[in-house]
Formats: sequence, C-alpha cells, structure tokens
Amino acid sequence: MATGNINVSVENIFPLIKKFLYSDHEIFLRELISNATDATLKLKHLTSIGEAKVDYGNPVIEVKIDKEKKQLIISDQGIGMTKEEVEKYINQVAFSGAEEFLEKYKDSAKDSGIIGHFGLGFYSAFMVANKVEIITKSYKDAPAAHWINEGTTEFTLEEADKKEHGTDIILHINEDDKEFLEEGRIRELLTKYNKFMPIPIKFGTREEELPLPEDAPEDAKPETKVVDDIINNPNPAWTKQPTELEDKDYKDFYRELYPMQFEEPLFHIHLNVDYPFNLTGILYFPKMSRDMNIQKDKIQLYQNQVFVTDNVEGIVPEFLTMLRGVIDSPDIPLNVSRSYLQADGAVKKISSYITRKVADKLKALFNNNREDFEKKWNDIKIVIEYGMLSEDKFFDKAKDFALYPTIDDKYFTFAEFIEKVKENQTDKDGNKVLLYASNKDDQHSYIEAAKEKGYEVLLLDSPIVSHLMQKLEMSEEKVTFARVDADHVDNLIKKDDEKISKLSDEEKEKLKGDFEKVIPKEKYTVQLEAMDSNAAPLLITQPEFMRRMKEMQQTGGGGMFGMGNMPEMYNLVVNTNHPLISEILNTKTEKKQERLIKQSLDLARLSQNLLKGEELTSFIKRSFEMIK
Ligand code: ADP
Repeated sequence: MATGNINVSVENIFPLIKKFLYSDHEIFLRELISNATDATLKLKHLTSIGEAKVDYGNPVIEVKIDKEKKQLIISDQGIGMTKEEVEKYINQVAFSGAEEFLEKYKDSAKDSGIIGHFGLGFYSAFMVANKVEIITKSYKDAPAAHWINEGTTEFTLEEADKKEHGTDIILHINEDDKEFLEEGRIRELLTKYNKFMPIPIKFGTREEELPLPEDAPEDAKPETKVVDDIINNPNPAWTKQPTELEDKDYKDFYRELYPMQFEEPLFHIHLNVDYPFNLTGILYFPKMSRDMNIQKDKIQLYQNQVFVTDNVEGIVPEFLTMLRGVIDSPDIPLNVSRSYLQADGAVKKISSYITRKVADKLKALFNNNREDFEKKWNDIKIVIEYGMLSEDKFFDKAKDFALYPTIDDKYFTFAEFIEKVKENQTDKDGNKVLLYASNKDDQHSYIEAAKEKGYEVLLLDSPIVSHLMQKLEMSEEKVTFARVDADHVDNLIKKDDEKISKLSDEEKEKLKGDFEKVIPKEKYTVQLEAMDSNAAPLLITQPEFMRRMKEMQQTGGGGMFGMGNMPEMYNLVVNTNHPLISEILNTKTEKKQERLIKQSLDLARLSQNLLKGEELTSFIKRSFEMIK
C-alpha cells in the first residue's frame, strides 16, 4: 500500500473548500457527474478510433445512496484510471485545478453575482464528504486502484480487484450534509443540473407497465416490470439539427423543460452557430400578458448539456429575458463576475447574434403568415416594443414588422399607417398627425369624434408606448403622434370642416370673459372653436407633449429628470355653435350663468375622467338637486 502527501502550496485548501463555497454545496454532484460523463465520452472516442480494445456498449452513470453506511456513490463505465493516472490526475492535476479555481474565486467573490462554478471539479466532493474513495479500473490492461482521502493532504493508494473498466466515487457524507443522503434531494439535483446530459444517468429503479396483449379483457391490469430509472434525456431537442425536428418536437421539448407550464408557446427560434463562437439552443416566445410572472420559468443556460444557471442577465439582451428556452455554449466564461462577463467579446457577439436571430424569425413569421402574426401581436408586443426601445439594432429591424392596431382591429406597420393617413391630417407645422387612443373606454367620446371625421385611430395601450412614439417620431420626418384628446386634434378638426361661427367677434369676446370669470385660469386655457352644433359644447384637451412627458416620467424615462413638478394644464374648447353655449352667453343673471358654466365644465371633465373624489360626489349631489 502506498501512502503519500499531496503537494500543496495552500495548506488549508480543505477547510477553504468546505467553508468558502458553503452556499453552493450542491454543485459537487454536477461536478462529479460531469467527470463521469467526460470519462465515458472519452472511452467512446477511443473505441471509435480503435484505440481502446473494449466494447463500448451502452454505458450508464449510476448514482446510489447507501443510507446505512452514509455513502453516496457515483459510478461510471468510462475510461477509468491506472494507479499512475490517479497519482497524476487526482493528486496533482485535480488538486492544482482546485487551487487555481479557489484563487480566482476569492477575487471575483468580492464582485457579486458569480454565475457558475465550473473548474473546481473533483475536489468539490470535499464540500459534503469528510472521506472520499476512488475505486477505478482503466480500460488499459492494468490492475484497478483504490484511493482514499480523509479530507487532509494525506492519502492512501493501493491495488483493488475491480474487474470492469470505469470509476466508482464513494463519498462518506458529513453529518452536516445529511440532506445528500435523501433520495428526494438527490433526485432534485439530478433533475436540476443533469436533466439533459449526454450519457444516461440511472438513479434507482421504477416499475413500468407492459403493454396488454391484443385479446386482454377490458378490465385487465397490465403487468409491470422493474426497469432502471433514467433521470435524463441524453438527446435533447436543441442538440439536433432544425431539419430533424417537427413543430411537435419543439412543443414536446417545451413541456419537458417546463413541466408545470400548461400554455403552449407561440413560436420557437432554433439557434445554431459554430463560428466565431459555439452556440446552440431553442428560444420560445410564451404568451405574455401585462401581469405575467417573469420570475419563474426563465431561459436556462447550459454548457455541453450541463445546466449552469437560469440567470442569463448579461448574456441575453435584457428585453429577451422574458423569453423561455435553452442556450448552450461552451464559449461563455463562467467563473467570472457579471461585470466582467458583459465586457467579454464572445459574450457580446453572442448577445447580438441572439438579437439578430430573434428579429429575423419575427420578420419571417410576419412575411410568411401575416394574419397569424397579427393574431399573436398582443401577446408578443411587450417584448418587441421593449426591444425597439432598448436596442437600436433591433429597432431598425423591427420597424418592418412591428404592428400598430387600430381601434377597429386593423393592423398597420408604421410605414403603412403613415401612408394611410390622409394628406389633410396635418397640424399647423405641417406634420402628419397619427391619432391614437390609449384606452377605448376612457377616451370613448374623443374616439367617436375622430372617427366621425373619417380619421383612423390607433389603439396603443402598452405601458411603454409613449417612449416608443418619441423614438418613432425621431426616426421619421414630419410625423407626430397625438392622442385623440390632445390639443393637436382641435387643429385638425377645425381644418377638416371649416365651420363658420354663428357668433360675432364682440359676442366671442364676451363669452370668453364669462368663462374666464368662473373657471380656474391657472388650469384651463379657454379656446373658442366653431364646431358642429351636434358636437359637444365643451371639450377638454391636453397638450400632447406635456401629457406624454408625464407618462414617460412614470414609466421611468431616462433624462426626464427634474420634470416632477409639471403643472396640470388643459385647454377648454368652447363650441361656439352649440345651443347651450348661446344660452350661457345670453343668460342675464350672473348666478345662473356661473351655475351653467360650472355644470358644463364638470360634465366635460367627467367625459375625460378628470372628475374624481370629493368633486365627483358634489357634482352628483348637485345634479340630483337639479332634476328633482
Ligand atoms: P477536470 O475535470 O476539470 O479536468 P477534475 O478535478 O474534475 O478536473 O478532475 C481531474 C482529472 O481527474 C480529470 O481531468 C480526469 O483525468 C480525472 N478524472 C476525474 N474523474 C474521473 C472519472 N470519473 N473517470 C476517469 N478520470 C477521472
């Protein structure tokens, strides 16, 4: 029997492994199964080139719990190691690997948000075990070896009588880590980290129902047989070529990824590049509502089919973190901080590749089946609008397929809508005015008025739409958006049907004065307009610019600083052709005139949803008084 000392420069590496990485104890299993997978894949390669003269067969990796002995055992049927190789790979390579990793980890730990801990490898076993044994037999013709280490720099290494090639790693689990002797906990970890690893992983057995014979009676119970319980799917959809997959395969894979998701995804995007970086994956657009739960069911990041994290911040552009699915890339550095990650060249390329692929897919869906795309629009618009705002490259592409629905459910692209808007729908600066509503009910009377004039009204109700309009206006000359209740619209309506006022200039002067006496001047600017006598007598409008600024402030617009105290300012448009207005003008008693103006103003405010609380209560009380 050989005993020896592991050559260490950091004497206290074991306590370090145990304490320093405390929070992430569970990753030991992922590391050991990764090693077992590597060992198996290496053998596959060696047999395929005729290097190894053993039968590759159908190897599995087995995880076993021995509760009595407090052991967790990970066995593989891979290349194994000779005694010399254990000496070299475990005592020297693995050790220096762990040491190097810890050095790095110490620095990056200061910077919060480490995303993965690859590289610690074999020695992570000491996070949960006070004693670790390796029993291994190489595929080469050499005796098996047995290595034992009790969590110090000393070890023993002797011959063993294992007959089949492969490696058993036996962990004697610490008292503090007893959770790793629980079947439920191990199953949870295997499903979390190893669900899609390339070699089958066996964990216990399960009963499987056998098919019933043809002539079996109706109520016959199928016979069962005991089979290996294989945890993983070694060939997940993203590792295949898109040409091998049908739509159904993508949907099945979605279900496999998110077993608790009952809603089907809207569509998928298959990612597949190998130069200048390696990346595969499948992204899904889920149905998205405003109040969706973004927290769970996120995009999962894998490296060579090993789960790393579901926090893909910095790798996937922020607006796409609302998607679901998998990305797998060995080119993403993992044991680094997030700020370092974001500065990494490969990661930047990956992020812009994903953005481009998503834009291309959306464009293709739009081109190939516009009707279907329109149907899905409301479920995907948040992502697209957010992307247009946050990524200029995406904005440029999305302009072609981003849709703007009208109140009547017709869908236009931006360019189409500009085309559609009539020439006479321009404001005094010569801008084409695109009318929109943000709420069908709140702005109902304004929408009706605009429609009556023959205007097409868009329904733009996303919370971030005011930011987007700002951006669209900048991207296109002489185009401006105006909400149906904005003051722009007054100009339009006047231009559209030039009505002649029934009132003389003197009467107009007096009317304006009468109103200004009664209404708060700091809040309302009185404007006289000659409109149709059927139109409302009073109309409240708000400068588009001011209202939008306020909205943008609320939804967090950059650069909107210091606009917190913008006053509420409205235009009170008085329709000089309305009979009620004539009545107000001709009322001789000041008291009665004041009452008429106040009541009309409140009605106008009511239609604009501006009458609230105490004012609303007293308005209603007053109205009841009037009719009784
Ligand atoms: P890494 O896997 O990153 O090289 P590890 O510390 O995990 O580092 O392992 C060190 C080495 O020990 C591996 O490179 C491999 O040669 C050997 N090894 C570890 N586990 C096994 C195993 N199950 N079968 C065969 N060799 C193994």
